[in-house]
Amino acid sequence: MIAQPKASHFIDGQYVEDSSGAAIDVIFPATGELIARVHEATPAIIERALASAARAQKEWARVKPVERGRILRRAADMIRERNQSLSELETLDTGKPIQETTVADATSGADALEYFAGLAPTVTGETMPLGRDFVYTIREPLGVCVGIGAWNYPTQIACWKGAPALAFGNAMIFKPSETTPLCALKIAEILHEAGLPAGLYNVVQGRGTVGAALVTDPRVAKVSLTGSVPTGRKVYAMAATGIRNVTMELGGKSPLIIFDDAHIENAVGGALMANFYSAGQVCSNGTRVFVQKGIKEKFLQRLKARTEAIRLGDPRDPDTQMGPVVNAAQMEKVLSYIEIGKKEGARLITGGQRAGTNAGCFIAPTVFADVTDDMTIAREEIFGPVMAVLDFETEEEAVARANATEFGLSAGVFTGDLARGHRVVANLEAGSCWINAYNLTPVETPFGGSKQSGVGRENSKAAIEHYTQIKSVYVNLGDVDAPY
Ligand code: NDP
Repeated sequence: MIAQPKASHFIDGQYVEDSSGAAIDVIFPATGELIARVHEATPAIIERALASAARAQKEWARVKPVERGRILRRAADMIRERNQSLSELETLDTGKPIQETTVADATSGADALEYFAGLAPTVTGETMPLGRDFVYTIREPLGVCVGIGAWNYPTQIACWKGAPALAFGNAMIFKPSETTPLCALKIAEILHEAGLPAGLYNVVQGRGTVGAALVTDPRVAKVSLTGSVPTGRKVYAMAATGIRNVTMELGGKSPLIIFDDAHIENAVGGALMANFYSAGQVCSNGTRVFVQKGIKEKFLQRLKARTEAIRLGDPRDPDTQMGPVVNAAQMEKVLSYIEIGKKEGARLITGGQRAGTNAGCFIAPTVFADVTDDMTIAREEIFGPVMAVLDFETEEEAVARANATEFGLSAGVFTGDLARGHRVVANLEAGSCWINAYNLTPVETPFGGSKQSGVGRENSKAAIEHYTQIKSVYVNLGDVDAPY
């Protein structure tokens, strides 16, 4: 097994195995090959992870922020030095092309560690003068945080949750998706090699039940989930029983609105990036592409040509632009949505079927036009390389239809009129918006959803709110004024 880790879990600064836990097979989705086998965390493993995190966090909270940052920055450097091998592992774990993983995964994780390393020492309290007396505030860590990841960006999610948690004095217990358990172990290993004290970043493997055991433990102060809306509902409810802090990064069905006056090649490029990066398995994807009637046919013609030129193939080949989807179950799910699209009367422009002849989970990048708002493929998150193009005539109509969804993760606008661009995004119900771009998520930017797409924000200074709590201290400089 070419990607077998030293052991299934990383706890208290070391790899730990307990083979009595149920086996989880890790499959390379381009070939169907078994690349690793890990074991689900048993109650004993979960207890070790919680106990070591609770112990280590108390010490860590007392470390000066600049020293905490120094360790995280060292880890960021090490991640960049090892980018090639980390990217190869991410490619095996997820099936995403090496062309993508070398620029979007470990590097994005390193950015998060570097950013929060620098931000840590800048986090300070305030003083409120009250005449004779005054109040000061302290930003304190929350304690032990649990991170639960989706399978599309395993390295990035492990870092986006771990970096702010650690920078501000918390401990992190991370449970990767059972589908992609490998990369988070490497992040844990690097963090500890960089000098992170044992117990502060633990990785435990398992399915939803392991996540649930972590989320409901009384030692846990915060839960950050990246996953689907149905899972979000369950985890949010479980976290609520202990009044825990939450960050919920959930799914979407985001709109991308393209006006007649848009630069056509840029708009087509934006729509491709919004639908086919990572074989369409990106939460913020702009999967409802609203195209104004005047440029519709020209847009579709260029879209079809550029989609058909996408190089699908072995994700380990640096020339490959699109790999398989993550596993056979996901492939079946996406293919069933394609069939529903055909049945409900959408016009298939290109793709529409499985691709390749081997055991790989490849799907041809697919574009449907003449999609209407009521069609299933315009309403439900597909999480695969399937783009739905819808027509519109006026700005008001586009905005109203874009907002007519329970989701609110992201939205994009392409227009040559910047005033319109700003006006439109001001009216869109979404956490992350782009004007004449799509899916760019630098660490400096808050990222997260509104409506059913989530609660809280990752990255940027906004993360301070989600990984710290405020203590206020009233200081009385006089006598106590008691009426008794
Ligand atoms: P899931 O919701 O199926 O799973 C997410 C994580 O939650 C997994 O680690 C899963 O474990 C775990 N989990 C499942 N059930 C429970 C439970 N009852 N208690 C605790 N943990 C549980 O999502 P996917 O992994 O299928 O990822 C795809 C989804 O993630 C899409 O909807 C996508 O939009 C969303 N996503 C959102 C992002 C954002 O930032 N907004 C970014 C990336 C993806 P296991 O896998 O082992 O079942």
